[in-house]
Amino acid sequence: MVRVRLAPSPTGTLHIGTARTAVFNWLYAKHEQGTFVLRIEDTDKERSKPEFTQNILEGLQWLGLNWDEEPVIQSERVSQHREAIQSLLDQGLAYRCYASESELTAMRDAQKASNQAPRYDNRHRNLTPDQEQAFQAEGRESVIRFRIDDAAEIRWNDLVRGAMSWRGSDLGGDMVIARRAPADVIGDPLYNLVVVVDDAAMEITHVIRGEDHIANTAKQLLLYEALGLPLPTFAHAPLILNSEGRKLSKRDGVTSINDFRAMGYTPDAIANYMTLLGWSVPEGMEERFSLSEAAAVFSFERVNKAGARFDWDKLNWLNAQVLHGWTSEHLLKKLTPLWAGRGWEQPNSNSWSLDLCALLVPSLTLLNDGVDQAAPFFECPELQEDALEQLAVDGAKAAVTNLIERLESKPWDGMDTDQAKAWLGDAAKAAGVKKGVVMKSLRAALLGRLQGPDLITTWSLLARIGEDLPRLRRCLS
Ligand code: GLU
Repeated sequence: MVRVRLAPSPTGTLHIGTARTAVFNWLYAKHEQGTFVLRIEDTDKERSKPEFTQNILEGLQWLGLNWDEEPVIQSERVSQHREAIQSLLDQGLAYRCYASESELTAMRDAQKASNQAPRYDNRHRNLTPDQEQAFQAEGRESVIRFRIDDAAEIRWNDLVRGAMSWRGSDLGGDMVIARRAPADVIGDPLYNLVVVVDDAAMEITHVIRGEDHIANTAKQLLLYEALGLPLPTFAHAPLILNSEGRKLSKRDGVTSINDFRAMGYTPDAIANYMTLLGWSVPEGMEERFSLSEAAAVFSFERVNKAGARFDWDKLNWLNAQVLHGWTSEHLLKKLTPLWAGRGWEQPNSNSWSLDLCALLVPSLTLLNDGVDQAAPFFECPELQEDALEQLAVDGAKAAVTNLIERLESKPWDGMDTDQAKAWLGDAAKAAGVKKGVVMKSLRAALLGRLQGPDLITTWSLLARIGEDLPRLRRCLS
């Protein structure tokens, strides 16, 4: 039975890398009819905040990544973490290191000066009881370090990257597993130790996470062995890169799922795009899919080793695909709060708003486009430069005047689109211009610019709220 986990640290809002890791875990769990669980890694007391936990859980729900069990709170398991450290101390696999910060800094400086990679030189690995007592008598506190044999060969078969191997000598020396504390206590347990203890206790079968954790995996494998725990299988997903091929960072503008949400991306498009950040669809499958469609065919064989470049065009294309598939009712439900936020009031009858949504749907890329594009239907727009130029064209004012006269004698009420089109032809004849001039001028008058959705529908929507005549008259003054 497959059990996977997402282990977010609540030190910030839901990060795009964490969301992508969540997607891969979720897809694999669903594909294998397994279980997807959460562990909130809140042991960094200073940086962890309940509001970040809230944000992460809400973000996952928004994306449709439901979890199967009550989330595990890491800080509640600290006694188990300490027990594991004690057992390593008892077996002589871990020891107290009394080296002070300044001694460690001097050590690293010396290594740098002689062009060596910085590493702990294991100086306190074999202290005698007398030496330990002398340090304690000086009032020194100690960290606890786990022994890493330089000669150790660490191997695993990564589901994404295949055969992996690391040497103990490349892991930076004996690793700190508990923070500095007096010699009679075990200080705060640290990430690598804690993750191993928790993953084993939670019976996690597959650890799926970002490539930035590869060196941690090597260290964690040594801890599994030392603690006599069964090994999970590992899969490391590629990094997410920006368009220049560098790791996506704060400088790229968006890093949090919140940002995408605020920009008007839909959860379906984001979840779809996150899946494509590293996974490629099997032959014959479209790139636009739902999470459950992807789960049906998901496998790590199709996850790339190379970094995944973030492609805004593809994300925008997916978002447009999602929006274009929405019904007017669904779009109206999503736009109503955004319109209300602008202080726009919809007419009493729902049918006007639904018809406006039907007009907008095909031209949306972002949900927020449904605010910008709806603006001239709620507020009389300023006449833009191109609209003013159009209205100054020979015959334009005459055509507008002709339309005004027609509307004054017979308002739009009940007019069908064929009749509206016929009026445009008649107005063109009367003003002695081509029909195109009438159409452009009408659009300029109604929307204040020359770009916009279908003209006749635009006219009809404005007519239904009594906004067409005043806007046409405004052009003449
Ligand atoms: N809390 C770690 C992180 O957010 C978890 C890494 C892991 O999956 O082990 O990076």
